Amino acid sequence: RSRVRNMVSPEKLLYKQPSVLVGRTDVVSVTPWLAPIVWEGTFDPVLVDNIYKPMNLTIATTVFAIGKYVRFLQDFLDTAEKHFMVGFNMRYYVFTDRPHDVPSVNLTRGRHLSVIQVPGSNRWQEISARRMEIIQTTIERQIRREADYIFCLDVDSKFHARWGPESLGRLVAVIHPGYYEQTRDRFPYERRPASTAYIPMDEGDYYYGGAMIGGFVEDVYTLTKVCQTRFEEDAGNSIEAAWQEESHLNRYLLYNKPSKVLSPEYLWQDFKAKTKEVKVIRFSGVIKNYADVRPN
Ligand code: UDP
Ligand code: MN
Repeated sequence: RSRVRNMVSPEKLLYKQPSVLVGRTDVVSVTPWLAPIVWEGTFDPVLVDNIYKPMNLTIATTVFAIGKYVRFLQDFLDTAEKHFMVGFNMRYYVFTDRPHDVPSVNLTRGRHLSVIQVPGSNRWQEISARRMEIIQTTIERQIRREADYIFCLDVDSKFHARWGPESLGRLVAVIHPGYYEQTRDRFPYERRPASTAYIPMDEGDYYYGGAMIGGFVEDVYTLTKVCQTRFEEDAGNSIEAAWQEESHLNRYLLYNKPSKVLSPEYLWQDFKAKTKEVKVIRFSGVIKNYADVRPN
């Protein structure tokens, strides 16, 4: 795919004058390495849409629905059609061992869905681990020719409000809703030096959620490749990181800083009450009965 063009401001579009002095003061909206942290009120949705729409981008979304998790697809896809990258070319890649159970969803113009059959598994830890590998091979086989940006999302979730091109960037991660008020020594990083996901107590920026990875296809490709290699290296040493791929993701992002960080608006959890700094919940994990949906 050709490189994404530079931002061009749309001519004659009227929008509110940006201020140097007035904005969100209750949250931090830039990292110490100067990546934006995306919160409601830090961007103008109309302006952002008008900048990105003329680029005619294609967005890939990968989602795994293995075993009983196919039951989450309907709501995931229905709500994505309402809120996720509306007006953009979208290619959903649904990975499942039950292709006949994939619901038929009405997709709007420019949006496509392909079902890719993958093996099932009896261990959810293994499903989680294999995601990185399958995303990697599918990027090699097709996604790198079919899309500009990619989002890899958890299926046990729903969209509730706009998730648009304000989320696009070279390498995009989301702040986990459970830990953003904590100090780094309380983050559930992998703490055993024997693991390749190891992060010492005095390091770490944020705790990133494993339910979303995004960015340019090639940057996400490198991330999945590195995490996959480390996961296998650990497995060879009979070690499994505390939170599997999420631990490897956190380690990767500590030393390969994301160029854009999404606030917990972009990854909430339905069981968690909304906090005052979260003005809008855009995407949230549904409450699930683990005993009911997981193979073991
Ligand atoms: N997953 C799946 N089948 C399973 C377990 C996991 O398809 O049996 C996929 C699914 O996309 C899910 C993701 O792996 O959203 C992460 O697993 P899960 O949501 O159970 O982890 P949690 O969000 O609870 O940490
Ligand atoms: Mn999940």
